[in-house]
Amino acid sequence: MLDYHAAPDLLANKVILITGAGDGIGRQAALHYGAHGATVILLGKTVKKLEAVYDELLAQGSPEPAIIPLDLNGATKNHYQDLAETLKQQFGRLDGVLFNASHLSVLGPFEMIGEDEWDQVMQVNLKSQFLLTQALLPLLKATPDSSIVYTSSGVGKQGRAYWGSYAISKFATEGMMQVLADELSNSSVRANCINPGATRTDMRSRAYPGEDPMSLRTAAEIMPLYLYLMGKDSLTVNGQSLDAQPDKVQRKA
Ligand code: NDP
Repeated sequence: MLDYHAAPDLLANKVILITGAGDGIGRQAALHYGAHGATVILLGKTVKKLEAVYDELLAQGSPEPAIIPLDLNGATKNHYQDLAETLKQQFGRLDGVLFNASHLSVLGPFEMIGEDEWDQVMQVNLKSQFLLTQALLPLLKATPDSSIVYTSSGVGKQGRAYWGSYAISKFATEGMMQVLADELSNSSVRANCINPGATRTDMRSRAYPGEDPMSLRTAAEIMPLYLYLMGKDSLTVNGQSLDAQPDKVQRKA
């Protein structure tokens, strides 16, 4: 999928929401979706980072984006319902959602996973996606073709020692996507997962402090799959978990 070339107007007139849009992969997705014509809704925790992406989008000539400051750790069902209502009022449509924000838990032995840490990871990485998906489905179903993309991980497909609640939340994300995609199979909405693979971001540096970041692909380099799944070239793709860097996938037999 690294060699997919998106048409310049692939996402023209589309409105796309991205969680965790202020940094790393989410930031690049915002810039790429905007560059291909989308109006991007930037959701994230740190307003300054979202404002910087907003400015970059305007500077590159993309449609004017919107900012939704929200900490997914504290957000409730009401916040998501209000958010859906705001999008409906202000944009009248929603064509895509990239669920990208995640909390990387403390890596360590299973016996040491703290209850609070578990709750925070499940809140940010899983429950927020469940509630936001529920809130946004009516809007997504109202557009002719819309795409939901969740973010998985290699540790969400093959369990790995010490990856604890983060890995478990990614397995659950894969499961939620599959259940939803099966229900949506006769609808205009499709749902899929992306496993970004090792990518040069802050989260990766925190997980692998001894690794040379320059040995990794940048977030910009893995964008072909992010574009493909959001645009019309993937209309028939539903219920899939795809690797953004298929050449780098190494799974235990
Ligand atoms: P980063 O840490 O670089 O960025 C994560 C983004 O999520 C940030 O913008 C952050 O906001 C936001 N975020 C985190 N917690 C919250 C919260 N409580 N509420 C709202 N926003 C929040 O991570 P990556 O770009 O590396 O990761 C993006 C996705 O890709 C994640 O789902 C991750 O699990 C997945 N992934 C990444 C890999 C990699 O190698 N980088 C490999 C496999 C999967 P803020 O900056 O304000 O904290």
